[in-house]
Amino acid sequence: MNYRHSFHAGNSADVVKHCLLIALVRALQQKPGALTLIDTHAGCGLYDLYGEEARRTGESTQGVLQALAAPNPLLDDYRAVVQAVNNGAEPHFYPGSPRILAQLLRPQDFLILNEKHPEDAHTLRGVMRGTSAAVHERDAYELWLAMLPPRTPRGVVLVDPPFEQTDERARITATLAAAHRKWGHGVTVIWYPLKDRAAHWRWREQMRKIGIPKLLRVEHWLYDGDQPGIYNGAGLYIANPPYAFTQALPPLLEALRAALAPKGHKGEITTDWVGD
Ligand code: SAM
Repeated sequence: MNYRHSFHAGNSADVVKHCLLIALVRALQQKPGALTLIDTHAGCGLYDLYGEEARRTGESTQGVLQALAAPNPLLDDYRAVVQAVNNGAEPHFYPGSPRILAQLLRPQDFLILNEKHPEDAHTLRGVMRGTSAAVHERDAYELWLAMLPPRTPRGVVLVDPPFEQTDERARITATLAAAHRKWGHGVTVIWYPLKDRAAHWRWREQMRKIGIPKLLRVEHWLYDGDQPGIYNGAGLYIANPPYAFTQALPPLLEALRAALAPKGHKGEITTDWVGD
């Protein structure tokens, strides 16, 4: 386990993932029933944008900093969760998915976090102290299935792996299939990096075969042409997205595309339903 999210926190992938996560939870919270939010790959929870790791990559410059500068009011909820962990207008810290989800919790909701890396799990426990979140230090795929079905009828599972293992996609596909059998109507969000288009299409076919009737795929392509061998953007599979979320999605995606477009590129965000 070499991946450390502190090198990448607040990059354009985090912006897309976190904006959609906020919109999804808010859409589910239009109904009063309790939610269980499960973050299988939680990371540290809070990141120092001026820390050595973040400064070494500088990735937040084209991510959170660009998004905060965009005037679009559709990004206000995202701006608010970042501002909540900072003093002043310039962000010094970046909230990871655990701190974002904790901010969205209502008294009736539950938050379950999991991080396998011992150092990051230790940091996460410290960062979440004083909140109602439960923190686990287990294998993500084992925990994902062990927690289903949750004790509340509705909820969200966020699966956000580093993709450093060659079998990561196969493990996700197998675990999503098993999770779907245990909790058919559950909402699941799976993040993945966009690199090789052919590999994505092969994986899409595997995901389709699981047979989830409502499986949405969203892809944010940063550049106007594919850049071979490098990170080209962020993809998300979302199983069972609520109607209020999918209705509000097109203008939010357009706001993200415009806010995150690298110099000289327009970028592109595509969505499609994976299924027959
Ligand atoms: N979800 C976080 C966020 O949005 O702020 C970022 C998570 S980061 C991309 C992926 C995390 O998964 C890393 O902290 C890594 O240590 C952890 N990880 C990797 N393999 C894991 C596994 N099998 N089980 C649990 N955690 C794992």
